[in-house]
Amino acid sequence: MSTFQAPKGTYDLIPPRSATFLAVRDAISTPVKNAGYGYIETPGFENVELFSRGVGESTDIVTKEMYTLTTKGNDYLALRPEGTASVLRAALQANLHKQGNLPVKLWYSGSYYRYERQQAGRYRHFSQVGAEAIGAEDPALDAELIILADQAYRTLGLRNFRILLNSLGDKECRPVYREALQTFLRGLDLDEETLRRAEINPLRVLDDKRADVQKQLVGAPVLTDYLCDACKTYHAEVRELLTAAGVAFEDDVKLVRGLDYYTRTTFEFVHGGLGSQSAVGGGGRYDGLSEMIGGPALPSVGWALGVDRTVLALEAEGIELDVPSATSVFAVPLGEEARRVLFGKITELRKAGVAADFSYGGKGLKGAMKDANRSGARYAVVAGERDLAEGVVQLKDMESGEQEPVALDALVEAVRAKLA
Ligand code: AMP
Repeated sequence: MSTFQAPKGTYDLIPPRSATFLAVRDAISTPVKNAGYGYIETPGFENVELFSRGVGESTDIVTKEMYTLTTKGNDYLALRPEGTASVLRAALQANLHKQGNLPVKLWYSGSYYRYERQQAGRYRHFSQVGAEAIGAEDPALDAELIILADQAYRTLGLRNFRILLNSLGDKECRPVYREALQTFLRGLDLDEETLRRAEINPLRVLDDKRADVQKQLVGAPVLTDYLCDACKTYHAEVRELLTAAGVAFEDDVKLVRGLDYYTRTTFEFVHGGLGSQSAVGGGGRYDGLSEMIGGPALPSVGWALGVDRTVLALEAEGIELDVPSATSVFAVPLGEEARRVLFGKITELRKAGVAADFSYGGKGLKGAMKDANRSGARYAVVAGERDLAEGVVQLKDMESGEQEPVALDALVEAVRAKLA
C-alpha cells in the first residue's frame, strides 16, 4: 500500500474537478434556500442508537455498512451513514418543533460514510445535500421537495433522469399489506437469509436484485392495492400537484428504498447514464421517525441528493458547467522592487473584490507568464524596474495579447472597469 493512497472506496476532490462539486452543491441548495429552508449542520458522528432505531435494525445500512467506534470514554458512536436521523435529532434537541412554526424547514450539506462494496458511483465516503420539512402532513410539502430537486437538476442542465414515485402506506394500511406479502413470501423457494428478511422487513425483499428472486416475485401482492383511503387521497394529491407543476414522474410500485423509516410518499431520481448505481437522489415521507427515536409525533418529509453521482451524471451527459475562472488578474513581477509593489497591488485588488494571484518563487518573465496562463486569468499585470520608474505597470489582456501601460495609482479602478 502506498503512503499516498486514499483509503479504499474514497477519493479526493482536486482542482479543477472540485469546482464542479462546489457548483453542484450550490445548484442543489439554491432552490431550497429560495423556498424557506434554513441551513443546519450536525456532527459527523452520532450515537449508534440513533441510526439503529431510526434507519432500522434490519437495513443493510445498519447491519453491514456503519463505521462504528467505541471512544476512550466508552461512547458507542457511528460515522453518519445518512442525514435525516441526525437532522431530526438536532431539531428535537433544540426544540425547533415547539416554536409554533411548523413545518420546520432545514437543509444541509456534508460527508456521509457507508462501508459498502466499492464500485462506480458507490463510495465509502460520499457527499449529499439534503432538505427536510419537519412537523407537517401536507401533500404540498411532498410535492414542493420533489419540484425543488427537479429544478436543481434542470438548472444544472441534466435531462436524462426520471422521477420514480410510490406510496408505502401508513400505520393503518401497511401492516395489512405486510401480512399479505409475508404470507406470499413464505410460499416461495428462498434462501435462509432472504426468508429471515421476509420476517423482519418483507418489503425489502421486493428490492432484491437477483433474477431468480425477481422471477418468483411476479404475482406478489402490490402495496398500491392495499392503501387505505387516507393514503390514497394523499398520494393522489401529491401526484396532481406534481402534474400541475409540469414535473413528470413514473409510478413504481416496487420502490421501497433502503431505509425503514419511510411512510407514504417515496421517490427516487434515477439517471440513465450511471449504470447500476443509477439513483442520483431520493427521499420520502417519514411520519413515524420522530417517535422511533423517542420524540413526539412529527410527520415529516425530505430528500438527499448525492453530489458525487450528480457530478457523474453531468459527465455522462457531457455537460460542462460554466465555472468562472478562479483568478481574474495575475501579477508578474520582474525584480525585487516589482515584487514588493505588485504584491501590494494584488492585496489591494483582492480587497476590492477582484480575484487576483501572484507569481511566487522569484521566477523570470517566461516562467511567470506560464503561471499567468495556467491560472486562467483574463489579465496579467507585468512590471519591471523601468515601468516602476515611470509609475506604471503593463496590463496585458490574456485573450487578445494586447498590452497597455496603466498608471500604478489607477490600476485597481482600471481593472475593475475592464472586468465589469
Ligand atoms: P440514500 O440515503 O441511500 O437514499 O441516498 C441518497 C443519495 O445519496 C443516493 O441517491 C446517491 O446519490 C447518494 N449515495 C448514497 N450512497 C452512496 C454511496 N455509497 N456512494 C455515492 N453516493 C451515494
